[in-house]
Amino acid sequence: MKILVINAGSSSMKYQLIDMEDESVIAKGNCERIGAGGHFKHTTGDGRVYETDVVMNNHTEAFVQIKNALLSDEYGVIKNLDEVSAIGHRIVQGGALFSESVIVNEDVIKGIESLIPLAPLHNAAHVQGIRACLDVFGTEVPEVVVFDTAFHSTMPPKAFTYPVPYEYYEKYAVRRYGFHGTSHRYVSQRCAELMGKDIKDVKMITCHLGNGSSITAIKGGKVIDTSMGLTPLDGIMMGTRTGSLDPSVVTFIAEKEGFTPSEMDTLLNKKSGFLGISGVSSDDRDVTAAAESGNERAKLAIDILEYQILKYIGSYTAALGGVDAIVFTAGIGENQCSHRINVCDQLAYMGVKVDAELNAKATRGVEGKISTPDSTVDVFVIPTNEELVIARDTMALVQK
Ligand code: ADP
Repeated sequence: MKILVINAGSSSMKYQLIDMEDESVIAKGNCERIGAGGHFKHTTGDGRVYETDVVMNNHTEAFVQIKNALLSDEYGVIKNLDEVSAIGHRIVQGGALFSESVIVNEDVIKGIESLIPLAPLHNAAHVQGIRACLDVFGTEVPEVVVFDTAFHSTMPPKAFTYPVPYEYYEKYAVRRYGFHGTSHRYVSQRCAELMGKDIKDVKMITCHLGNGSSITAIKGGKVIDTSMGLTPLDGIMMGTRTGSLDPSVVTFIAEKEGFTPSEMDTLLNKKSGFLGISGVSSDDRDVTAAAESGNERAKLAIDILEYQILKYIGSYTAALGGVDAIVFTAGIGENQCSHRINVCDQLAYMGVKVDAELNAKATRGVEGKISTPDSTVDVFVIPTNEELVIARDTMALVQK
């Protein structure tokens, strides 16, 4: 069975075609700058690459590019479109409506649309992606939606309720939802496998550190708390996002500078974090390099990030009543070994010991345990694979 996984953004659309026989990626690619010119790149599992500037006015035109590439004589990987058994879509916000993946029908699309106020950029683009997919692939290919928020739906009210007047939860569903759930789910399951334990018996903290970052506390396979909130702005500092702040910082700056809510939103989401502190870049590699060559603000940005990761691990260890495993994943978690060791060295008080050599080796897609055999907590680097989770859920639902 071959499954097409789609991640539709407002101006981009990423895809992977996965062969579920061996879970290998047969082809993958990205449509960029949809609606503003257009750039398309398609790579096959056996290394053929097709890349071109091509006008894509909307998501339907982007899907036509994907379809043509998959079927192409030179760069294709299938002979006929009906070889694609099902399509799985990544959806950012499932709100309180969706606690698990579901097969797409008109009610599901309406449900995703009704959540647009909670994720304006993302959910609107996902709906465009689903509709475009229906246009190009037709209604006979089943489509499934997999939600970033779903894995966090097990959080108890004490973890997801914000202490603002309760009427705003009732009126607008303002609460913590959490994001990157598909990634936290994948690495937590993989972590239990690597430990050779039933996930029901493991307490773990998973650190998804990328351009967007979130940290999650998982007990017996169920999320009890996570750092992102109503939107992916909450939690630890990120590439361009603030993470958690005293809310008065927002009203204070807005008043001083005369910023509108939308201008504040841009400042908090796009101009803060690594970029805002360092003034160098939003990219961890650039900021780390600048810090190493003596840039004080870049060094401060790194110190803040590591300190915040450390504090989250400490507080989630308390929330879990102890921790058996810590997992690092995503661009920074999988590659920036200096942050991992700097954080873990400060956890020595609770018996965490990381092997410097194993830590240095675990980069660029290498999976493995980086803690020493006598460490009281197992520490892992596990490359995430959200597309595979989406493909597995899609297969399971269409086979039902
Ligand atoms: P996104 O949230 O956009 O999916 P990623 O998970 O790709 O982000 O993470 C991007 C971050 O990871 C950047 O800050 C970058 O510096 C870091 N990163 C990505 N790849 C590498 C790498 N090979 N080596 C070091 N850092 C990397």
